[in-house]
Amino acid sequence: MEKRNIIIVDSVTGVMNGNLRLLLESAKDYAIFTLDMERRVTSWNAGAELMLGYSEQEILGQSGDIFFVPEDRAKNAPEWETEKASKEGVAENERWHLRKDGSRFYGSGTSRPLYNDKGEQLGFVKIMRDMTEDKRREEALRASEERLRITMESATDYAIMTLDTEGNYTEWSKGAEQIFGFTEPEVLGKHTELIFTPEDREQEEAEKEITTARLKGRAEDERWHMRKDGSRLFMSGVMRPIYNDNVLIGYVKVARNITEQKLLEKKKDDFIGIASHELKTPVTSIKAYVELLQETLEQTEGESPALIQKLNNQVDRLGALIHTLLDTTMIAEGQLELHPETFDINQLLQEIADDMQNISKRHKLVLQREKVSRVKADRERISQVITNIISNAIKYSPAGGEVIITTKDDGNKVQVSVQDQGIGMSANTINNIFDRFYREGNPSIQTFPGIGLGLYIAAEIVKMHGGRIWAESEKGEGATFYFTIPGSPDHTKS
Ligand code: ADP
Repeated sequence: MEKRNIIIVDSVTGVMNGNLRLLLESAKDYAIFTLDMERRVTSWNAGAELMLGYSEQEILGQSGDIFFVPEDRAKNAPEWETEKASKEGVAENERWHLRKDGSRFYGSGTSRPLYNDKGEQLGFVKIMRDMTEDKRREEALRASEERLRITMESATDYAIMTLDTEGNYTEWSKGAEQIFGFTEPEVLGKHTELIFTPEDREQEEAEKEITTARLKGRAEDERWHMRKDGSRLFMSGVMRPIYNDNVLIGYVKVARNITEQKLLEKKKDDFIGIASHELKTPVTSIKAYVELLQETLEQTEGESPALIQKLNNQVDRLGALIHTLLDTTMIAEGQLELHPETFDINQLLQEIADDMQNISKRHKLVLQREKVSRVKADRERISQVITNIISNAIKYSPAGGEVIITTKDDGNKVQVSVQDQGIGMSANTINNIFDRFYREGNPSIQTFPGIGLGLYIAAEIVKMHGGRIWAESEKGEGATFYFTIPGSPDHTKS
């Protein structure tokens, strides 16, 4: 022992004997051991015991080849390593090794020759670190990079792009090439703006998208983009930031070409628009004739027969449906115009509630209004929103009950709420009710009349006013709808 240590001191580290032993003992993260010229173990530190599982007594005198995996032994790796160390003064290696229990670890280290004072080689010293974790991480990273590469190459229906922190392209998938017509070398290093339309570039939409992705962790959008040849295509995409050790290193964007669907949707909108427009004139005439008939009969008979009343109601329903469809097409085409005026929303609620109370005897409309600011809004359109929400409250609480309508100030906005004691909604339904044509899937809902446009229109109107609309509910527990609209800047309270 004594002799070996002296040798190591002289030839490798220059550290004094006692200190050297201490150093070897304390280096628990490193396996440090020496081999003689026949590669038998001649010294063994605590780190080696921890890493390889053999105690010093067990291993001394045994061949160091047993740390090599059979595949490497078959390739004479142990001999090759010591030969290289002898010849070149050092042999570096990174390979899988075997522990006493047969398990494998990835060791990275060096072998060096050991000499005595006379310069005769006595053996080797090997220092090794367990790099299994790093190796696994590296392999996982390589596997995930490979997966990403394969995904990027095979997902030809999707454009997958990565950007650096400045928004310049760093990767551009095969799908992106096919969809946009630019090859990868043509776009690398260019700003993502490249595929934005001039209108969106003017509005700095590309920058906005990156900022949203950075701040919110995700930016979703549907917009027109430009191909290399200048033609346009409608894409639906999502952008997310990429972090490495909490440092932002760029963004990834995945987008899908949905031009076909968009054009189909446009055709559908056009059809709804034309059909409802064509229906409007005859229905308006029928309504006029029914009213005339009603008046004539009232004059001759004293009152109009129930059948005429029913006819009138059905014509009203038809008229309302046509208006709903016309509103939907106007919204889709961005043609819905607002005519704002300053008014007292409590007063409007009173008028609507008085009107609607007549619809159902089983429901009691209760007004709980606070003194609120006057609002600046399109009175007709807000009335449409309120009417829709209250008629839903009545429709979807078939057993009747109270419908509580409240107002309150909410910062510089006024908040209106309508609460019912009806069938309520699941969380999933709540997420979708403001979408176009959405109706809850379950069959019991289909027994209620409706086409799933009322709340869509209501939401669009509220959003156009700069307000917010939302609902809270649980299935079977009734529902509460809320919306806000900006108060009038003059701050007068009603
Ligand atoms: P419609 O009533 O014509 O189906 P809406 O757009 O007004 O369309 O409403 C969409 C869906 O939201 C309804 O089909 C219903 O499932 C749900 N919903 C709306 N209001 C309520 C309510 N007060 N209680 C329970 N469900 C409601």
